Formats: sequence, C-alpha cells, structure tokens
Amino acid sequence: MKITDVDTVVCDAGMRNWVFVRVRTDQGLVGWGEASTEWRTHSIVGAVRDFVPLLIGEDPYRIEHLWQKLFRQQFWKGGVITMSALSGIDQALHDLKAQALGVPLYELLGGRVRDRIRLYDHLGGGDPDAVYGALSAERFADSARRSVEAGFDAVKVLAVPMGAGLPSGAALRTTDRVMAAVRDAVGDEVEIMIDLHGRCTPAAAIAFAGVLRPYRPWFLEEPCQPELVEELPGIAAGAGIPIALGERLSGRGEFLRVLRTGAVAVLQPDVCHCGGLSELRRIAGLAEAFGVTLAPHNPLGPIATAHNLHFAMATSNWLIQEQMRAAAPIWDDILTTPLEFADGYAVPPPGVGLGTAVNEAVAAAHPGTETEVQLSTRLPDGSLCDW
Ligand SMILES: [Mg+2]
Repeated sequence: MKITDVDTVVCDAGMRNWVFVRVRTDQGLVGWGEASTEWRTHSIVGAVRDFVPLLIGEDPYRIEHLWQKLFRQQFWKGGVITMSALSGIDQALHDLKAQALGVPLYELLGGRVRDRIRLYDHLGGGDPDAVYGALSAERFADSARRSVEAGFDAVKVLAVPMGAGLPSGAALRTTDRVMAAVRDAVGDEVEIMIDLHGRCTPAAAIAFAGVLRPYRPWFLEEPCQPELVEELPGIAAGAGIPIALGERLSGRGEFLRVLRTGAVAVLQPDVCHCGGLSELRRIAGLAEAFGVTLAPHNPLGPIATAHNLHFAMATSNWLIQEQMRAAAPIWDDILTTPLEFADGYAVPPPGVGLGTAVNEAVAAAHPGTETEVQLSTRLPDGSLCDW
C-alpha cells in the first residue's frame, strides 16, 4: 500500500475553523486526522502541503518512520505550526493503519486499559469581553448545574477575569463569587477545575489561588504564560493547588522542561499540536516517569476528540478527558458516525480505525471562514491583555 495524496479539509465550525487532514492510498483507504489551530488556518494548511512531497509513495504502515521523516529530515523542526501539521498527519496514519488491520485504533496504542472514559465539561470562557468584575457567577453556576444534570462529575471554569497584572480587590471578590456559586451549585462531590488561561502574572496567580483554595479546586490550569517555566515551582508552592498545563506546548522537549521543575501535577497535551498520537504516547511515558498524570486538552473538533478517546482507552497514567459539549452547531453532522457521550463518560466509536470519519458533503457545505471569531482582550484603559 502506498500513500497517494495528503490534503486538508477546512470547515467553519462557528467559533473557529476546523482543519481536518486526509491521507489517501492506492488501495482506496482514507485516514483522518485533525490539525485545527485557531487563527492559523492558512499556516496549517500550508504546512501540511509542505509535507506532501515527503509522503507521496511512502508505505503508510511505517507511522514511526514517517513521523521521524517529517520531524528530522527538514532543517526547521518544531514550533506549533509544523507540529500541528505533523499531528494531523500522524493521527490520519494511525486511523488508516488500524482500518487496514481491521482493528480499533486503540489496539495500535497497546490495547484497552479501561472500559470507558471519564469526561469533564468545559463551562466556556466567560463573557467574550469580560474584564475585571464582568464575570457572571450566576451564569457559571447555571452552566455547572446543567453539566451535573447531564451526568458530568467534573467541570472546568475560567473563574479569573482577564488582565490580571496584580489583582484588585474587585477582581478577587469576583473570583470568590464565581467559585462559591459554582461549588454551591454542584456540591462537594463534583470536581471543579480552574483555568487561569495564562491570564495572570505569577504573583497574581498565587493571589487568586488563595481565594480559590478553600473551595478545593481539583487543579489550577495555566497559572501563567507558558514561557515562564522557571516560575512554576514558586507558583505551585504559593498556590497550594495542583498545577496543570501543556495545551500550548508541542514536542517532548517542551514537556520535559516543565516536568523537570517538579511543579506540575497534570499535563494537558493537545493531540492536534503536540506531535500527534506518536508524540502524545512519548509525552505520556515521560509523565509516568515523573509521577504525573494526563488530562489532554481538547476544545477543537470531533476528529481530535475521537483520537483522544482512543488514546485514553490505551493509556494508564491518564486522568480525565476535556470535552466541550455542544461546542459547535455541526459537531454531530460533520462525522459519518457521531460520538456518543452518556452520564459523563464516552467510549470510542465502534468499528475499525478511528470508528468515524469526516462527512465530506457536510464539510463542503460549511467551508472554512477567512475571518474566525476574534475575542476582545482590552482592559478598561484600552491596553491589551492576555485572554
Ligand atoms: Mg486551558
């Protein structure tokens, strides 16, 4: 069997474009991956195209060989664009090979270590223009209550306003109100994860953690911008809440650097950016050696979610899977077999390979947009802030 074509299918998912990667062979098999990277659609499509000459005519069974070829045989390696393109191709090769072998994809990853996959619900990012004082505790509490009613026993909240250099009293009180309302809404048995979204300075993260800690958050995500690796031990010690991060990292080297700080409890690699399933498995191995668990980042499309479900099925030091329920209006229609979630759990779609594929007619009816939704990230004084 030989690879005859590698291309992308870009789809307008409402709040962002989804970039699906398609690998085809001379035997008619098609494998699907996802390389969605918000606001970088053209770059990702171009990066996949740059890889095509390295793949045409190759044996798709040689997943590791091809991963190494794409990573090592070009002078420029790494970076989120290259690694996201590589991620989509690597996923598609796994799907394709599992189909050819007539087995579910997770069999290529070592086989089942669990029967079903625990999910957590993402309650959204707050109001798009939320700055200090603008977060709605009631909205988050309602949303959390609906999640629990739907069967989830874990939710994630962005309980900290944007733009926290040093938190004002109003900002701390807002965070306290949000966290109190959500804890009150879900009770003591539901896990609440807090995503700071890299909005904070290290000092601000510690201050917000002091407010959050009495409500027993499960973990504190991205307490600061990803490049501030040396600050992590101080943040972890000051926060007193397990630290989670990794959604903006790619490649094992970046994950190893944060693991070596000893400050991280949970890694959150994204299968669309970290280097695909091949690199995700290596990152999981590194994490296991450091006694760290995984909660893979997953706010993108359903093809990425399906790959994550197969990975979770076969990975021992895995904790929980992020799921943005009803994140896009075409979520179910875009797949030939929709993913099924029930009572806060999921299993991979049945069948061989990924168990589902992109419905190309639906994708064609929703072509990617040139203008993905942009969020406002300004403070009241007009200056920019991380969102
Ligand atoms: Mg996050």
